Amino acid sequence: MTTTAGEPGMRYVVVGADRKPYASATPGAWGGHRTSRIYGRLDCPAALRAIARGGYVRHRVFFADEATAIDAGFRPCGTCLPEKYAAWKAAHIAARKSAIPLPTAVPRPIASRGM
Ligand SMILES: [Zn+2]
Repeated sequence: MTTTAGEPGMRYVVVGADRKPYASATPGAWGGHRTSRIYGRLDCPAALRAIARGGYVRHRVFFADEATAIDAGFRPCGTCLPEKYAAWKAAHIAARKSAIPLPTAVPRPIASRGM
């Protein structure tokens, strides 16, 4: 039994932390949506529903592991990773809050205007 189809092994395309695809001998263990930057399980019901509708496959990417997906800037899927999504959301909101400068104290009327 022989196979002559192309290079043996490198038949999967996965995406690295730099979001660039590369050939891999093993399929990605995690799926992701390239434009919405969401990653999740390969058997994610939301992803499978979207795939069934035909609108998702074009944008689907795969990651070798979860850390790569996170490094690539993807966030957890709220459907198949609800706990991770909740943690991400809490951290994300905290980060946004700290990034927004708090309003400074109410400006005081200038007392020395008449001088
Ligand atoms: Zn999901």
